[in-house]
Amino acid sequence: MPDTPLPSQPSLSDAEGLPDRQSTTVRWQPDRGVRADAWPMPPLLLALARGFACRCPACGQTKLFRGYLKVVPECMNCGAPVGLARADDAPPYFTVFIVGHVVVGGLLWLENAKSPPLWVHAVIWLPLTIVMSLGLLRPIKGATVGLMLKLGMLKSADDA
Ligand SMILES: [Zn+2]
Repeated sequence: MPDTPLPSQPSLSDAEGLPDRQSTTVRWQPDRGVRADAWPMPPLLLALARGFACRCPACGQTKLFRGYLKVVPECMNCGAPVGLARADDAPPYFTVFIVGHVVVGGLLWLENAKSPPLWVHAVIWLPLTIVMSLGLLRPIKGATVGLMLKLGMLKSADDA
């Protein structure tokens, strides 16, 4: 086997030519792609209420959704980038949490108090579950977008 020289490895002396890393402080920089002060920001409760009403959480002047759950990219009035607030699974989670407590609590209370036949339970709680879930999901998503906008939880625009 021929005695080939090993590829040159960086030696410790090579690092001496680099700037001293010890003295370079790297600080975390917030994403400046989206300016947080480029649109009006009301108090938290007002942002939540406007979102719950399916209006722009920042100004309350325009619709937040185009369709059932599709959030507009940005407010046509104030330019708040509401589309960058990706609520993901949070609205369904909050909806299930609320509807579950109402329906299960009501069902148990009714069973305890009156013990009606099963079909009565089915007639009351199945439609109530569907109506409450579909009715609450949209305003809860709006309020979640309002919360995320208020807290600055926005994805950067080039994040797919
Ligand atoms: Zn707006």
